[in-house]
Parts: sequence; structure tokens; C-alpha cells
Amino acid sequence: MSSGKCHEQATACDHCDWVNVMPSMQAGEQLHCARCGHLIVTCHPNAPQQLLSNGCAAVLMFIMSLCFVFLGFSSQGSHQRITLLDCVYGLMGEHYISLGIIVALTLLVLPVVYLSAVLLIALALRQGRLKSIHYGLTHTISALQPWLMVDVFLLGGLVALVKLHSLAEIELGLSFWAFCAFTLCLFRTVSFVDKRWIWHCLCGPAPTVAVRSGSALSQGLKGCQYCGALVSADTHQCSRCHHILHQRKQGSLNNTLALLFASCALYFPANFFPIMITTFLGSSEPSTIMGGVILLWGMKSYLVAGVIFVASILVPVTKILMLFWLCWQIRFGHGEHEKPTQRIYHIAEFIGRWSMVDVFVVAILSALVQLGPMMNIIPGVAAISFAAVVILTMLAAMSFDSRLIWDKSEEITI
Ligand SMILES: [Zn+2]
Ligand SMILES: [Zn+2]
Repeated sequence: MSSGKCHEQATACDHCDWVNVMPSMQAGEQLHCARCGHLIVTCHPNAPQQLLSNGCAAVLMFIMSLCFVFLGFSSQGSHQRITLLDCVYGLMGEHYISLGIIVALTLLVLPVVYLSAVLLIALALRQGRLKSIHYGLTHTISALQPWLMVDVFLLGGLVALVKLHSLAEIELGLSFWAFCAFTLCLFRTVSFVDKRWIWHCLCGPAPTVAVRSGSALSQGLKGCQYCGALVSADTHQCSRCHHILHQRKQGSLNNTLALLFASCALYFPANFFPIMITTFLGSSEPSTIMGGVILLWGMKSYLVAGVIFVASILVPVTKILMLFWLCWQIRFGHGEHEKPTQRIYHIAEFIGRWSMVDVFVVAILSALVQLGPMMNIIPGVAAISFAAVVILTMLAAMSFDSRLIWDKSEEITI
């Protein structure tokens, strides 16, 4: 890679199964799928060095964001300052242990595990000392990437600040700025992670197979979704990354539908019960998601009301409807308009994680606004249901196999 050339194999597109011949690429070049346009590989110049420098910067910023004050809050002579960890302790202290665990995982644990794995791989690539442990680490970074939600947490922090702005004086601590820098460094690191290139460096080129124009399935081949290798359709384990191979994700439609029905069932308590309980001068007022939006609109906080409405009401409903429609298309559709259909899947996949904003707003506010009977905020039961809805819809999108959209057009029965 650092010498400027990478990849010379054929690979199946993860999204549509089309076999793309990978030319010898120069540093900085990208290869897009000839059929669906999905980005297959980017040939990053000097990628190990970029991963190391950005990854180390992210770790440094992460440590700094834990060491100082994250946010401060002053109202009528009372002060409250919190660190990032207080957002987790606040939920645990209010006996919302499951919610605290979800926030701790998405905010602290998974980014640390992800960065550690990336740094170990980058170091090994630079030194040319790759061992079997790096196979597991490469699988780990692919699995964790969709669950990195520090950018969503940052948006949640900004929403919480705007919510409190009219009620109190807000202080942005050093940790807040360090966390902003951590978010930038983390996603810059993510942009240099390319699974096909890492597997190419780890195990060398994939076995050569004869290919022609068409999908892997139509040629009696299977594309490994982990390392990009193309193997014969009767191969059960990838010879390069050792992952168990399936022609399509097993039980994709049934799993997606089951997860969607579960998220629909939880969507009602998530909207019916209060997500947050605010106590002001001794009187408690529970608020549902929609109640919070109406209250903010009434207070002329139109932007925050809009963000909460889009993230907490519009996005989950749209995503659930989109995924149901995709399942219906696979089951009863006629295999037309594959590209727009796949675009709808990508939108559903992309927007889902942003619904966690409201959960993070509750986590931040319940840690920050603790001024005794004068003013305090605690999470409501709907916060757990809502977090579960977001996670279940994300899992539903992950279990959906977009290659099925294109199988219909080829009139292939799986
Ligand atoms: Zn494709
Ligand atoms: Zn593989």
C-alpha cells in the first residue's frame, strides 16, 4: 500500500453481489461497484501511518475528555459540574442500570476496544509482524464500526445545552472540547480503515478464480463479506479469513421481520410513558417524547424541537416502514428499480443510529441537573424502551441482506 499499489483480485460487491475486477490501483484511487455504485475499496496512501497517527490522537483526546469537567450548570446560586463518566453514573444511580450499560458501551467501551484493535493492526502492518491474533482483531473492528456513536452523543450534548440555555448558565468544560476533538480523530481513523486492504496485507491475495461479467451467484461463486475473497459456491469456510460463508445471510427476511415486530411492540411504551421526569421547585412533571417536542416548540426552541422530532419520532417510524417495505419488495416485488430500492436500504441503515440522540440527552440531563428539590431531572421508563427500539431497528437493518434486492432481477431462486 505504501508503495502506491494495491489489489489485483476480483471481488464480489457486498451490497449487490456483482463481480468487480480490481485493477492495480494507485494511492488515492477508489473503486466503485460497476452495478450499484457502492464504494468497494479505497487505496489510501500510507494507511498504516495514518491509522497510527489519527488513532493515537483519538486515544489522547479520549483520555483528556475523561479527566476534566465536561459540562457545568448554574441556576439561582446553585452549581453543578459533571465529567463524562457522570453521564453513566447518573443513570446507574437512578437504578437505570441497563440504560447506563448501553450508554457506557456506545460512549466509552466500544470506541476504546475499536481504537485498540486498529492501533494493534496498524502497528503490526508497519512492522510486518502479523500473527493469528490480528485475524480476530480485524473481525472485531468490522463488527464494532456501526456501533460507534460518539458523534450522536455529541449532538445529544448540544441539544441538552440548548434545552437548558434559557433556564440556567451553562459552562463548556475542557473535556467537552477534548470530546469534540476525539470525535473528529475517531472518525478520521475510521475513514482509513478498509477491510479488503487489511485482509490483503494480513493474508496476501485471495485465491484466483475465473470470473466473467455478472453476479457471483450466477457464476457459481460466493463472495466473502468479511475479506472480499471470491470462492467456489460449495466452499463453506473462507480459505483466507476462515469465516463461515453463506451465499446470503441466513434467514435474512425472517430475522429482519422478527426484529421489526419487536421494535414496533416497544415503540408504543417508548412513546406512551414518560422519557424524562423534571422536578422544579418541588413539583414533578413527567414528559413523553412528543410532550417534550410540544413543550420545546411552545418555548420557541424550534431548532431543538425539530431535532428531537426528527430523531425520536420521524426517523424510527420511517426506518421501520422502509424496512417493512423492503421485506415486502423481496417477498412480493417484481425485481425492478433495484438502485432506488438499494438507496432506500442505505438511508434506513444510515439514519437509525441518530435516534439515540434523545437517550443521550436524557443521560446528560439526568447527570447534570441535580439541584435537589429546587430542580432535578431523572430518566423515565420510556428511555429504556426507546433505546431498545433504536438497537432493534439497527439489528433489523444489519440482518437484511441487500443482495436479495438484486437477486430478484436476475430471477434466481435462493
Ligand atoms: Zn454493487
Ligand atoms: Zn474471507
